[in-house]
Amino acid sequence: MATDITTDILIVGGGPAGLQAALSIGRVHRNAVVLDDGHYRNATVAHMHNLIGADGTPPEDFRSRARDEIRAYETIRLVNARASGSVTAEGGFVTTLDGGGVVRSRAVVLASGVRDELPTVPGLDEVWGGRVAHCPFCHAHEFAGGRFGILGTAAAGHLSTMLAPIAGSVMVLPLAGDEVDGQGVDRPPVVGMRDTGAALEVTLADGSVESVDVAFIVPTLRQRSDLPALLGLELNPSGCVRVDEFQRTSVPGVLAAGDMAHLPAYPMPMASVASATAAGQLAASAAIMFLMS
Ligand SMILES: Cc1cc2nc3c(=O)[nH]c(=O)nc-3n(C[C@H](O)[C@H](O)[C@H](O)COP(=O)(O)OP(=O)(O)OC[C@H]3O[C@@H](n4cnc5c(N)ncnc54)[C@H](O)[C@@H]3O)c2cc1C
Repeated sequence: MATDITTDILIVGGGPAGLQAALSIGRVHRNAVVLDDGHYRNATVAHMHNLIGADGTPPEDFRSRARDEIRAYETIRLVNARASGSVTAEGGFVTTLDGGGVVRSRAVVLASGVRDELPTVPGLDEVWGGRVAHCPFCHAHEFAGGRFGILGTAAAGHLSTMLAPIAGSVMVLPLAGDEVDGQGVDRPPVVGMRDTGAALEVTLADGSVESVDVAFIVPTLRQRSDLPALLGLELNPSGCVRVDEFQRTSVPGVLAAGDMAHLPAYPMPMASVASATAAGQLAASAAIMFLMS
């Protein structure tokens, strides 16, 4: 790839937020470069849901169709590379790429997503996005009427209520270190799990085994990229970038969209493909307004 690129707008991220931002910018013939290092939040998911017109679509098909649509716009360039640093300089931003190379831009749209930090339980990483997920809107309906588990007591009350109309039964499975007093839970903590093909087999600390069809957990969200920190962006208590109603961050010319950012009024990002594309579109408009100001 070229090592030195100059563009109007740099978009960091090729998930739904970044791809929608690119499409919106292409539609008005502004120049943008999209950097994508290929680490998507829903990478382990076979089918995504709760997106009108695309309910049940494999995420990679969605991204691949989006990239094809964007290639029709001459002012947009898709680059498979990781941004390793970014500074305000030269009246805009200078962003460095892994393996060498620089992108100079007047504005930056960060759409670099988050990663899910899961508790250390043997087997959990392998079933994440399959029989274990976090979001009742995304993952519950396909298991309707089945045996549902909730991993961890912290959000068990909220999740149980949310899942009650969908689940046949709901079982709370504590994790190591959980507070169980007063939670009505008398099971020892989970020490392992595996997908048998027919169910999720969960092993408890006393050696007993519980079997559920699907389980829900609340992961800790971490920024996927160092760029918010390197650019000195203000964060919400959730760790996501603080944005205003136009996706503007605390640094003029830097917009943020998708799971990585939200309004301070929200406790966490409204994490979904639909919300990410909506925010990406708004960030694109705000970036163009910034160029015009
Ligand atoms: C298990 C699971 C199931 C889900 N199921 C659904 C569902 O059914 N329906 C739904 O609507 N939502 C679902 N989601 C949520 C959905 O995946 C996210 O809301 C959505 O992907 C957010 O899009 P995004 O563009 O913000 O981030 P992402 O899709 O995570 O994209 C981030 C992009 O930034 C790039 N990036 C990061 N850092 C850098 C860097 N330094 N340089 C270059 N590129 C970088 C990544 O490579 C990637 O291209 C699910 C999430 C999980 C974890």
